[in-house]
Parts: sequence; C-alpha cells; structure tokens
Amino acid sequence: MILEEAIRILREAAVPVMETERIPLAQASGRVLAKDLQAVYDQPPFPRSPLDGYAVRGEDTLCASGEEPVELRILGKIFAGEVFHGEVHKGECVRLMTGAPVPEGANAVIRQEDTDYEPGKTGDYIGPDSRVKIFRGASPYQNYVYEGEDYRKGDTLLRAGTVLTGMHLGIAAGAGREELEVYREPVITVISTGDEVVAPGGDLAPGKIYDSNRFTVVGRLADLGLCRVESWHCPDDPTAMANQIRQAGKNSDLIITTGGVSVGEKDIMHQVMADLKGEKLFWKVSLKPGAPTLAFVSGGDKVPVICLTGNPYGVAVNFELLVRPVLEKISHNPKISSKTRMGKLKNDSPKWGGVRRFMRGHYEEDRSEVTILAGSQASGTLSSMAVCNCLVEIPEKSRGKAGEDVKIYLL
Ligand code: AMP
Ligand code: MG
Repeated sequence: MILEEAIRILREAAVPVMETERIPLAQASGRVLAKDLQAVYDQPPFPRSPLDGYAVRGEDTLCASGEEPVELRILGKIFAGEVFHGEVHKGECVRLMTGAPVPEGANAVIRQEDTDYEPGKTGDYIGPDSRVKIFRGASPYQNYVYEGEDYRKGDTLLRAGTVLTGMHLGIAAGAGREELEVYREPVITVISTGDEVVAPGGDLAPGKIYDSNRFTVVGRLADLGLCRVESWHCPDDPTAMANQIRQAGKNSDLIITTGGVSVGEKDIMHQVMADLKGEKLFWKVSLKPGAPTLAFVSGGDKVPVICLTGNPYGVAVNFELLVRPVLEKISHNPKISSKTRMGKLKNDSPKWGGVRRFMRGHYEEDRSEVTILAGSQASGTLSSMAVCNCLVEIPEKSRGKAGEDVKIYLL
C-alpha cells in the first residue's frame, strides 16, 4: 500500500477527541480552543489617554504656538486607574497620565512635552489656581483612544480550533477571562514488545538490548505537546499483549505498539489483532524503513492501534509519516502534522532504488540545502539520529544524486 493511502485510511479511522475542559489561562498555551471566544465588553472600556499630558477640549487649543501659547486652568490630576469626577469646560484641562480615562467634556490630549510642565512648578496640579501653557494644540480626538477602539462587546476574539499561543492568552486575559474551554488532550498508550528488550537502567544479560523505541515514541509525543501518555513494555506473549491493549483501549484515544509485526515466529501482533477481533486497516506500506507496519481498529472500544516495526529507525520514520497525521486529527491540532520542504541535496544518497526511502538528513533552512548524514543509515541503528533534523525522501525512481531537489520532512 502506498504511504498516502495508508495515511488516508488511518485518518479516516481516527476519531477526534470531542470532550472539552476548562483550564486556567496560564496552562492553556499549546492547547486547542474548543469554543469561539466573544468579548463581553468594549476594549478599552472607556476613552483613555495614550500619553502623559493634559486632557483638553481640542477646539480650545487649536491656535496654540510657541510664541502665543494657550493657557488653561488645571482642574485636577489623575493617574491610570483613577477617575476624574468632574467635567472639562472651555479654558480648562485635567492633568493625566497614560492609561487614565479622558474626563467628561475633554476630547483630546496634549503631550506634556508640548507644554511648560515642570514637576512641582508650572503645569503641575498644585491647587485650584494651577495653570499650564500649551505650545502646540491638538484637534478634537487627537491623542484620544476611543472606547472600544480595540474591539466591541460581542466581537469574536478567538475562533474555535485556534492552537493557543501566548498572544492568544494575552487577548483572552485582556477580555477578562481567567479560564478557557479547550479540547481534552488525547490519551495515548505506547507499548513496546520483544522478549529481548529490557528497560534502560538494568543490567544487560546476554542476547538482550535496551528498549529505545518506547522512549523515542514517548519523547516525540512530548515534543509535539502530547503528554497524557502511558507507556510500558510487554514480552512477546500474544495473550498478555491482547489483554493489555484491551485494557488500554478503555481510556485511550490511540494505541501505538512497537515490534512483532513482521513474519517471524515471534511476530505476535497479527495474533493479537485476531484475539482482539480487530478490524485490519492495512499491513505493510511501500517505504523503507519500517515497511511492515500493521494498523487495526480494536474490536471492543474501536480504538485505532498502530503497530510499528521494532527497528528503531523504522519506528522513528513511521512515527513521523504515519502517526503524526493521526495525532493531528485526534487532537484538532494542525501544528502536529509534519512540516515538509523542498531542499537541494548536497551529497549522493548511499541507498536508492526499489521503494521510497527515508534517509536521515540535516537541513539548512537558510540555504534550503540538505545533507544525508554520514554514518549508518541501517534501519536498526539510532546513533546517526543525534544530529538529524529531517527525513529526506528518495523517491522510487530517483537515484538521490547531489543537486537533486528532494522533499524533506522536518522533525
Ligand atoms: P521486530 O520488529 O520485533 O522483529 O524487531 C526488529 C528489530 O528491532 C530487532 O532487532 C529487535 O531486537 C529490535 N527491537 C525491537 N524492539 C525494540 C526496542 N523496543 N528497542 C530497541 N530495539 C528493538
Ligand atoms: Mg520482535
């Protein structure tokens, strides 16, 4: 089966999470908004001053100049957060600071720099006789921030489906919201298999290897912001594995397994699928590495189960190509899908021919160039992943020669 078809089938089987939850703003970055956010009042809620100066009737100041200043009586002084209780009439003004409400009667603000202001002396509000000389006037509504200039009550500020960033949280906070309604995060279960596989940390008995796959998958999920993940290891025991998947299916939105999908005697996942009365979606995708991927929907809870190869690099490749599109759908988060680019290949691919291949590469964004990494490109090796920042696709018919334009998948 071609890769695109496998992705289509998998996405069709995947069900987006529909439950929502209300969470505090400070925890909402990266989450997906489930409901449109509407403004419940005008922003700003009152006309305000954009600078430090004097609230005036613009018409009183129009003819002011350096030679012939206009002198106004100062009725009082307000800071941001305060309100002036009174009205500005002809020949009057109120000293005010940035963010303070423009008092009744005033319709413009004169910059402090355009007056004779000196702290505690001229232009300051000392008492009822305080006065200020204005050297440059303002027209009505100059330096005047309208009530509702930013948005009006009832305006839609954020649309459902928005992947929230700090900018969005600032908007929501500015609109007075302390919580947002977001989609519940998907719950994902990861199970590695293999009798030869042991948890890192313990001793390595002869014939055994450490379990890297479980941590590659759990780590990539975390990279994508998906942290409601349970993971463990299961030996090559089809009954135990079927039971564990059945159990996990009760509260998981997706189950990812590694190992046991090929044709060997211990490739248990076919038996597990049968035991679970799973509906097979596909087995084997035309790509390298990681061709024998198996996917099914479990019989009971109808949870998609993606069974990746055990080969560590095959796991990494299939996660990027097959699992991410599913994660995107179940989480409603378009940022989760792989970003692709075209890049110019800097060196010859050491492997080509047969099916589509995905090589470990290093992409230089500013030059749009990609290097296939030296070192082993064998599917069982992981060390050359250390500096890999992309997968390079060598199409079926391409030789993967230096200078060719190739598609890359950013990690
Ligand atoms: P399998 O797909 O189960 O036949 O495994 C293919 C290869 O990957 C074998 O060499 C396994 O030993 C190795 N392998 C399987 N699972 C893991 C794992 N969790 N971590 C590292 N290597 C693994
Ligand atoms: Mg195995």
